[in-house]
Amino acid sequence: MLLCSLAFNIPVRREFTYIVPDDWPGGLHVGDRVIAPLAGRDSTGIVVKLQRTNDPITGLKTIQRPAAGYRVPPNLLQLTLWVSDYYLCGWGEALAAAAGPSLGAAKIAYRLKRLDWNTGKDRVERLAAVDQHLLNTLSARRYVTLDTILKSTERKRSAILGTLRHLIERGWVESEWRITTPAAPEASAVAPAPGNDVHPEPGIAQFDEEQKSVWGALSALLDEQTGQTALLWGTTGSGKTAIYCQAIRHVWLQGRSVIFLVPEIGLASQMIRRLEITLGEKAAVWHSGLSNNERFWMAQRIAAGQYRLAVGARSAVFASIPNLGLIVVDEEHADSYKQGDPAPRYHARDLAVVRAKIDNALCLLGSATPSCESIHNAQTGKYRLLRLTRRVLGRSLPVVRVVDLRHGAAHSDASWITNDLRDALLRTLDSGRKAIVFLNRRGHSTLVSCQLCGHTETCPDCGLALTYHASDRSYRCHICARSKPALDTCPSCAGTDFLLRGVGTQKIEESLAALGPQVRLARLDADIASKVGAAAATLDGFAGEKHNLLVGTQMVTKGLDVAQVGVVGVIWADQQMAIPDFRAEERTFQLLTQVAGRAGRGADGHVGEVIVQTFHPDHELIALAASQDSESFYQRELPRRKQLGYPPFTRLIQLAFSSETPNAPMESALGFAAYWKTCLSESRNLGKLLGPSPALIPRRAKRHYVNALIKTTNIRAATSAVDDYRNQNESLMRRRHVTLTIDVDPTDFM
Ligand code: ADP
Ligand code: ZN
Repeated sequence: MLLCSLAFNIPVRREFTYIVPDDWPGGLHVGDRVIAPLAGRDSTGIVVKLQRTNDPITGLKTIQRPAAGYRVPPNLLQLTLWVSDYYLCGWGEALAAAAGPSLGAAKIAYRLKRLDWNTGKDRVERLAAVDQHLLNTLSARRYVTLDTILKSTERKRSAILGTLRHLIERGWVESEWRITTPAAPEASAVAPAPGNDVHPEPGIAQFDEEQKSVWGALSALLDEQTGQTALLWGTTGSGKTAIYCQAIRHVWLQGRSVIFLVPEIGLASQMIRRLEITLGEKAAVWHSGLSNNERFWMAQRIAAGQYRLAVGARSAVFASIPNLGLIVVDEEHADSYKQGDPAPRYHARDLAVVRAKIDNALCLLGSATPSCESIHNAQTGKYRLLRLTRRVLGRSLPVVRVVDLRHGAAHSDASWITNDLRDALLRTLDSGRKAIVFLNRRGHSTLVSCQLCGHTETCPDCGLALTYHASDRSYRCHICARSKPALDTCPSCAGTDFLLRGVGTQKIEESLAALGPQVRLARLDADIASKVGAAAATLDGFAGEKHNLLVGTQMVTKGLDVAQVGVVGVIWADQQMAIPDFRAEERTFQLLTQVAGRAGRGADGHVGEVIVQTFHPDHELIALAASQDSESFYQRELPRRKQLGYPPFTRLIQLAFSSETPNAPMESALGFAAYWKTCLSESRNLGKLLGPSPALIPRRAKRHYVNALIKTTNIRAATSAVDDYRNQNESLMRRRHVTLTIDVDPTDFM
């Protein structure tokens, strides 16, 4: 008997075994999707193992029918198994992230195998009349489903099935699965034409000295095909995209294909146009705006080898593109490569490295401000370092001016735009150039309070102050997204005057709009980008003539290549520095360097200008960011990490215990702490446990959170000990209504 193991998209780390019916049409293969009963429901699982047995089997259920979707290839089975082991999630959860949706229903269809049944009369005549009748029905069409046959006869279903089995055994008829899927949407195969905003990237002939030397090393790595990783550390404007394009062409010539990862697909439209125009070929673009049907068909087309380039955000690391030769991870330092919720909580950059090994492809990480992890890996020889230290064509880095916010800003709204910034903006706009203003916080005012009694509105589910949004006069919780209309009167004293304190992009937008008639303003933040295509439209408007001033959150810092940006203003540079996260300074440095890098990218020799407003004008980090001196930044940051025992010198596992019952998470967390202590007393080298303690934001969307953090140099042993604990305590925690969320290599410590 043939048995198969199925992985389902459920949060358990085990697979389930089923019987494969003998007459399963077409045979079953590892990687196929099938429908099978699971806990009383029909569920779609992926076949991860097939095995024959002669032992008598009891208590196993039978798989029912195939589900639509390409056969998951062995390399992706291997990659998703790695994800399941490393990030402690179900294999099926990892596969679900990788394999995309399954759409459509399967039916068995029957067809005549011997089309000469009519002429080979003597043999047909020896068949019973019921058999002949059925053959007649089948001869009318290429294939016929059981339902259709049943409509043409009075006979019972079981009788028909018996006849069909007889005919199949005699070799007259064969059966196959027919899967009806929704119609495929139309796909354009034509690359876009170059426009004013985007031109083809230069080729090898135009490369400068640094680009040539990088290309020399990179092409050799591409030819080796041994699954290595290279880190392209190149200053903003140093011409990394031209290198990417050359690498893609090279891999195409080898007959292999490419995955290109971007931090946020909504902001990548310019990058995708640059790639398509330079390469003259359409890319498969995975994006959140795709309908289920479009996503399904895109996945089928990619798996069928209809594209040589797939572009997408983190989940595209799983793209089932055949013959992978190269994975590019652009802006590899971006936090958006890490999936926080739901499982699998994977880091796409790290997976790209793993996948390159599995596929013998090259993983190419690119950034002007690489993550400390990647710098460390380059320094220890794990990654090959490729360096571009200068902007192309001798263009200079922008000049940075630090402006002291301490006298003014917090006191009156208008002063968030200091005189220095206002003058620079007006000068730039008047000269026909463009400007970007950056503040990493959305909304209008982060604290609204009644002028009379001081009452502030807080979220009943999270306990934190609500942010005022002027665009639709609402109060919103930035933790759980709850929203309600803004108040006209204070609920506690009926006062009608409110103080709007704290600053967000909407407040800055108001101040900038008042600068003068020359301002053609656009805003870009998560509130704008929640509408599909809105971010791309805003960026297009800014790259074109529609807007000359763009205000926004970190969305404006990412990869925008607009030539005429003369000045970049940073409203509040140290805003994120005080967040209790060991990466706070790294992030601040990266953000400031990236946003400054948007200035002065034009061919006209104009030197860009950056105004950095800060409450800490003397802070070392601000000085480093101002000089865009990333080498010195890593020289300062890495020893600090080593001393404090943080990544990249250790690895972290965050455990979050949560429940709607206030004390339950802490009880469970203390239980875990006791377990950890016992493990350590057995002198297992598992690493240190920090906490448990209430989370930074202890209540979110009605749930209470308690965190514990493991710091380890032995990640495999530590994760497996955590896994053991979860397996042993799952039912206990369920009874206490406590959920344990495990995040390996976390980037968010909320
Ligand atoms: P990065 O990604 O490193 O910030 P880009 O790849 O965006 O830099 O390059 C900046 C600009 O320089 C782009 O418009 C690109 O087309 C152009 N460029 C790249 N290499 C060269 C070169 N060798 N000669 C002239 N222009 C170049
Ligand atoms: Zn809330």
